[in-house]
Amino acid sequence: MEGRCMKCQEQKSMKDVDMTMTKRGGYMAKGKCETCGTTVCRICSKVNAEKAIADGDAKKAY
Ligand SMILES: [Zn+2]
Repeated sequence: MEGRCMKCQEQKSMKDVDMTMTKRGGYMAKGKCETCGTTVCRICSKVNAEKAIADGDAKKAY
């Protein structure tokens, strides 16, 4: 899974990804930039969130 790292200012692979749910019922993946370790977030659709969990790309955290 990739997210935009604010520090690297580009798309980076995320590690240690937790799939969380926002207050509004959306899904958000939170992980760490593989390169610099900064927290990287990515908004996901329900389908993408469930797929990421099923594939083992993210850990269910909601
Ligand atoms: Zn980074």
